[in-house]
Amino acid sequence: MAKGKAWRFSISAIKHLCRGMPTCTQEQINERLRICKACIHWTGSGCGKCGCNCGGKPKFLNKLAWADQECPIGKWKRLDVADDEQETDTEES
Ligand code: SF4
Repeated sequence: MAKGKAWRFSISAIKHLCRGMPTCTQEQINERLRICKACIHWTGSGCGKCGCNCGGKPKFLNKLAWADQECPIGKWKRLDVADDEQETDTEES
């Protein structure tokens, strides 16, 4: 993992932990993955935009499974974060 990717993933993981590690349902993960696989930034195993490997990772390492994460270009949204937190915390990946 490149230094920038490792840093972004670490920040996202810390925020995810602080938020109580909210997790998506399998249906929500599947829907996010369906959107990613149709995206021009999909590399075949992850996101070329944010650098996260999303495809085959276990839930605790897969940002698609983290309900508090969002697509860096807005193709899918956070699922359980209060509106005021979403407005002040926009730079995830
Ligand atoms: S996270 Fe967003 S930008 Fe990245 S592959 Fe998925 S849809 Fe595309």
